[in-house]
Amino acid sequence: MPIYEYACQSCGATFDQLWLTVRAAAEAAAAGKQPPCPACGEVDTQRIVSQVAVLGELGGLTPGEQRASNAQETARAERMSSFLPKEQVQQFQANRQKKRESGK
Ligand SMILES: [Zn+2]
Repeated sequence: MPIYEYACQSCGATFDQLWLTVRAAAEAAAAGKQPPCPACGEVDTQRIVSQVAVLGELGGLTPGEQRASNAQETARAERMSSFLPKEQVQQFQANRQKKRESGK
């Protein structure tokens, strides 16, 4: 199950939202239905793509594992970003998402 990170446009809080499927998240985004902010309740939230989330997906970690090893993942993300161009990561991510969506 994909976890996306969101930033609240109202109070600036960031939070993770777990989706059942990539498709569910994409459909909610297309319909303008972003998850509400847990801090202030506003629905004016925007998805942000963090390297931590990307690496968590690449590594196949479960949400629990990802949270537990958050600090570790951040350190890994910093190492990875030192030799992987951002564009390459985004390209890889886009290809992966396409594959996933056509596969289901
Ligand atoms: Zn908020």
